[in-house]
Amino acid sequence: MPELFIGGTWRSALDGRTREIRCPADGSLVGVVDEGGGKDTVEAVGAARRAFDEGPWPGTPAAERGDLLLRVADLMVRDKAELARAESLDTGKRLVESAYDVDDVINSFRHFGRLAANETGRVIDTGSPSVDSRVVHEPVGVCALITPWNYPLLQTAWKVAPALAAGNTFVLKPSELTPHTAIHLMRLLEEAGLPAGVANLVLGAGPEAGAPLADHPDVDLLSFTGGLRTGRRLMAAAAGTVKKVALELGGKNPNIVFADADFDTAVDMALTAVFLHSGQVCSAGARLLVEDPLHDRFVDEIVRRARRIRLGGPFDEGAQTGPLISEAHRAKVDAYVARGVAEGAVLRCGGARPEGLDDGFYYLPTVLDECDARMSVVQEESFGPVLTVERFTDETEAVRLANDTVYGLAGAVFTTDEAKARRVAARLRIGTVWINDYHPYVAQAEWGGFKQSGLGRELGPSGLAEYREAKHIYRNTDPSPQGWFA
Ligand code: NAD
Repeated sequence: MPELFIGGTWRSALDGRTREIRCPADGSLVGVVDEGGGKDTVEAVGAARRAFDEGPWPGTPAAERGDLLLRVADLMVRDKAELARAESLDTGKRLVESAYDVDDVINSFRHFGRLAANETGRVIDTGSPSVDSRVVHEPVGVCALITPWNYPLLQTAWKVAPALAAGNTFVLKPSELTPHTAIHLMRLLEEAGLPAGVANLVLGAGPEAGAPLADHPDVDLLSFTGGLRTGRRLMAAAAGTVKKVALELGGKNPNIVFADADFDTAVDMALTAVFLHSGQVCSAGARLLVEDPLHDRFVDEIVRRARRIRLGGPFDEGAQTGPLISEAHRAKVDAYVARGVAEGAVLRCGGARPEGLDDGFYYLPTVLDECDARMSVVQEESFGPVLTVERFTDETEAVRLANDTVYGLAGAVFTTDEAKARRVAARLRIGTVWINDYHPYVAQAEWGGFKQSGLGRELGPSGLAEYREAKHIYRNTDPSPQGWFA
C-alpha cells in the first residue's frame, strides 16, 4: 500500500522512489516505503492550503475538534501494541520504552483534546458601553511539521495534536529513518473522521522532502524538532516569507550533584539521565557536574554500574538499553569520544563497540572524567551514551558551568538542601529543571528550550497557543459620525 497521504488519498512518490527501513538493532528489513521529494511536498502543501481555505476544519467548533482528538487517543489505545512494535523496529529501542512512549502520545492527544474544548476567547472591558471588544483565537493556517527519529511518534504527537486542536491543516515530514508510526497515525486520523486534506504526510529525506516546506509561501507556520544546525538553516529559509517558526532543538544538559545529595538516588538517576535510549534523548543529562568532595566516590560508582549495563535489541527482555540509530551516528559519537580524550579527558569506561552485537549499531556506555568546559565533547551534543564529568567547588561555580553552553533545554540538581535547590533552579537558564529527579515531564506543563535549544514551547497551554493567532474584534454597538474631519 502506498504511504504518502496527500489530500485524503494514499499514493506513491511521484518519481517512484522507495527507501528500505532497517532495524538499527540487527539490520533486518522492517519495510520498504515510498520516498517522496520536492514535488510531492509542494503538492501536499497545495492540498493543505485548499483544505484550510475551503474546507470545514478551521470552522469546526473547537469542542468537536477536541472530540476528534479524544477519538484518536482511543484508537491508539486499541492499537497500542502495534504502534509500540513499529516504533521499536524503526528505532531499535526496547519494546517496553516504546510502550511508555505510546502512553505519552495518548496523554498528549487527550491533553490537547481537552484544551481545545475549553477555548473561550476574551472579552475586554474598554469602559465604554457602546463597545464590544473581544479577542478570539483562530488557527494560523497551513503548518509544516518536521520531526526527528529519536521519539518519532511522540515528537509528532506534540505537533499534530495541537495543530489539529487549533483548527489548522498540516503537512507532516517525519524522519526518513523512522516513518512507520507516522503512517499509522495518518490512518488513525482518517478512521477518526478527519476531513480530507487536513492531514498530509510526505516521507523522504530532509533536504529533498523537507526543505521546500521552510520557504513555501503557502506555509504559515513551521514547527521543527531536530538538530541545532538544521534548525538554524530552516529558520533562515523561513525568514523570506516571515512565517511563524517554532523550534525544538538539542540540549547539552547539566546534571548537578551536590555532596549532600542522597547518594544512591543521585547515582541511579545520573545513569538513567544519560544512558536511557543510549543517550539519544534531547534532554539527556550528558554533563555530570559533581561537587569536589563527592567526586571520586560518585564517579567510581557510576563507572562500576555503567560497565554492567546490558545492551540488546527491542525484544531482548534482558536488555537495559539499545543501539544507536545508524552507522553514521555511531561514527559521530565515537569521534566525539576520541576528540575528548585527545583534549585531555580520562576515559573511564566504554569508548568502543561491544563485543558480540555486530549486526546492530551498538556503542558501550561511556564515561569521560576530568573534563573541561571548553572541550567539544562537553559543549556539543554527541547524542550518544557519553557522560562527561566536571568538578565544582561551590554553588556559584556549579551554576556557571551548568549555564556554560549555547544550549538551554533541561537539567537537574540533586541535593537534600531545599533552599539550595530552589536557588540553583532559579539561576539555571534552561526550560525544565528537575530537583532530585531526572527525565519526567507532564503534558500539562510546557516543554522547550532557552537560548539555542529552541524557540517557543510544546505541551502545556503554550503548546496550543503556538498554533493560534489572536484576533481582536472591536465592534461599535452604537455607531454615529465622530465629526473629526467635519
Ligand atoms: P535532524 O536535524 O537531522 O533531522 C530532523 C528532521 O529534519 C528530520 O525529519 C530530517 O529529515 C529533517 N531535515 C534534515 N535536514 C533538513 C533540511 N535541510 N530541510 C528540511 N528538513 C530537514 O535531527 P535528527 O538527527 O533527526 O534528530 C536529533 C536531534 O533532534 C537532536 O539534536 C535532538 O536533540 C533533537 N531533538 C530535540 C527535541 C526537543 O524537544 N528539543 C526532541 C527530540 C530531538
